[in-house]
Amino acid sequence: MFQLAVYGKGGIGKSTMSANISLMLAQRGHRVMQIGCDPKHDSTRLLIGGGSQRTVLDYVREVPERDRRLEDVMVTGSGGVMCIESGGPEPGIGCAGRGILTAFDTIRHLGADGSGADVRLYDVLGDVVCGGFAVPLREENADGVVIVTSGEFMSLYAANNIMKGIRRFTPDRPRLIGIVLNSRGVEGEEAAVRRFAEATGTRIIAVVPRDRLFASAEAAGHTVCEMFPDSEAASAVRGIVDRIEEVMSGAAMDVPRPLDDDQMSDLAAGREIRPGNRVPADVPLCTGCEAHTGWRQKYSCASCGAVMALARLRDTAVVVHGPRSCAYLMDSAYLSTVADLYTGGVYDDPMPDNIYCTSMDDSSAIFGGAGCLADTMDDAYGDGFREVAVVTTCVSGMIGDDCDAVARDFEAAHPDARATVVHTDGVINGDYFDGMDAVMGILIGSVDPSAAPVPGTVNLVGSSFFDLQSPEAAAELGRMLSVFGLRVNCRLLDDTTMGSVRSFLGGSVDVLLNEERAADFEEEVMAVTGASRRVMRLPTGLDEYVGWLRGMSEVTGLPSGDEESRARSRWEGFVSDHRETFLGKRVSLSTVIPRNMDWMVDMLSDLGAEVVRFGFTKGADERCGVTARHRDMLIYDYGKREISADWETLHPDLLLYDVDIPDRYPGNSLRMSRIGPGIEPPLRFMESVADALSRGCGE
Ligand code: SF4
Repeated sequence: MFQLAVYGKGGIGKSTMSANISLMLAQRGHRVMQIGCDPKHDSTRLLIGGGSQRTVLDYVREVPERDRRLEDVMVTGSGGVMCIESGGPEPGIGCAGRGILTAFDTIRHLGADGSGADVRLYDVLGDVVCGGFAVPLREENADGVVIVTSGEFMSLYAANNIMKGIRRFTPDRPRLIGIVLNSRGVEGEEAAVRRFAEATGTRIIAVVPRDRLFASAEAAGHTVCEMFPDSEAASAVRGIVDRIEEVMSGAAMDVPRPLDDDQMSDLAAGREIRPGNRVPADVPLCTGCEAHTGWRQKYSCASCGAVMALARLRDTAVVVHGPRSCAYLMDSAYLSTVADLYTGGVYDDPMPDNIYCTSMDDSSAIFGGAGCLADTMDDAYGDGFREVAVVTTCVSGMIGDDCDAVARDFEAAHPDARATVVHTDGVINGDYFDGMDAVMGILIGSVDPSAAPVPGTVNLVGSSFFDLQSPEAAAELGRMLSVFGLRVNCRLLDDTTMGSVRSFLGGSVDVLLNEERAADFEEEVMAVTGASRRVMRLPTGLDEYVGWLRGMSEVTGLPSGDEESRARSRWEGFVSDHRETFLGKRVSLSTVIPRNMDWMVDMLSDLGAEVVRFGFTKGADERCGVTARHRDMLIYDYGKREISADWETLHPDLLLYDVDIPDRYPGNSLRMSRIGPGIEPPLRFMESVADALSRGCGE
């Protein structure tokens, strides 16, 4: 079977030309199938008496897959030509390019390859240069391409783009049959097209005259070849079909050399076309893409990051506007990273079931997904949610669904509800952290600047966002807050509600739980609301904890009672109980997390151990909060090689690490996982250090 693609700018007459070519091929004994690939579905009109036929995409929308048959979308037209129209969405919604892909898949599944056709002609709109409309240009779909153009610049511009598409798929393979000049009667038209053909390395295979007989035949719903076979117009079509048959018999085709912008300007101005920079056959990746090819996509896509952030709002339904597979991946990621918080004792209430999906399918991807989005938001409202956040995915982003309009309609229909749209569009707008940041930006922007601080309340900022808290850590934090009788106003962002985020400024003091990101959030809150906040960092170890108790007393005006002396005696008791185990031991520290480790250096020293190395994996230019007091000991760029070298020369009794260490590290080592705040979690960790040292001594 020979597959032929006829491309051209919209309105240039390619459908008329396609129908005439199909008919004449059929009259010469070929079994021809013509597939119209234009949403306005009028390619085969002149072959079926001027009427219209059911399109493949309408059929896909209306008929379940198991009931579909090729006969339902294929009409036999003049000369026995098998006529199919792919169809597509209305202008302004959905994705017609995606529609072409689906139509091709559907026709193939319905058995078009077994229809007996020996020529299959695709009539394709050539203005659009997206991947969907380029499907018929692919090597497996088109053995040869005919471009229909007039001498007008925009038509030649479209022809040039079609040539670029051919080169992209097959840079060196000759697949261009030639150009059909469909005359518009413009002065100098033929000369302009000849210059274009010559400059692009191809040929004009027919000059079709501007002939009123075309209009007469079309008015009657027929092709000019059928109604006026002896006309000049029919003779021109004969020339096209002659050339196609030659090619089918093995005659050479052309490799087009599309023009660059400067050359197109020369063509338009009637100047000599300069040599110019030819469009390269293989357009290299942009530097941005190249920069991304070497590293793993961090933690999935921006949509996933947005869902992970929003799902932590108990009162908010998160609507993933995309295929079910997207929501499945995001839900799985959520379960595997956040579920521990709710099932592991960090929070009292079970995890909310608040992730919805619009389950976009082929139909909504082609014809637009606004309907299924509106339905899903209504479902969430029916389930009791009055806050609904929509997260766009690759599919809804690419087809350009107007989610903001759907959100406005939703709010108009439900005055007691609020809708928010996060335009993450999957990977297109960045990675996981970009999605989270987008949500944080929206949340921070929603903070009510008029809320006044309420004494005795606290905000917890940057909680388990990037550093999941253990039940023990959560219990210690709860105990620390209870020293002052403080209650939580808002957790940004865990186990909270949209309402508490809005009343963020009602918290009298902000405690930053995560040294890496919480400070950024805090700064943004202040920048957006203009409020000056009282901020306390979360302490670890005795010295920081004592400082924190005093600071909290100062900012809240509340006493800490005898907590300072209790903590001091607990800490000192531990030191005296374990000093024997640590005395004289050589300990090496290696970290990649810029958390403050001063307390550990101090405690090892109090216990009589020697810190022989204090290494930070990253460079000195990275933000480094590893130490405030022991910077003189710190060395940067401390990686596997350095760890190995130190083993040879320093022989530490124990390596404490949270980075990758050499696979066969010969010494005693212990990973520092999430240690936790206050007094008890660090003491529990030091207990495990004592165990590791004891084990090492016994070996
Ligand atoms: S990258 Fe796109 S397709 Fe994949 S999960 Fe994210 S939104 Fe869905």
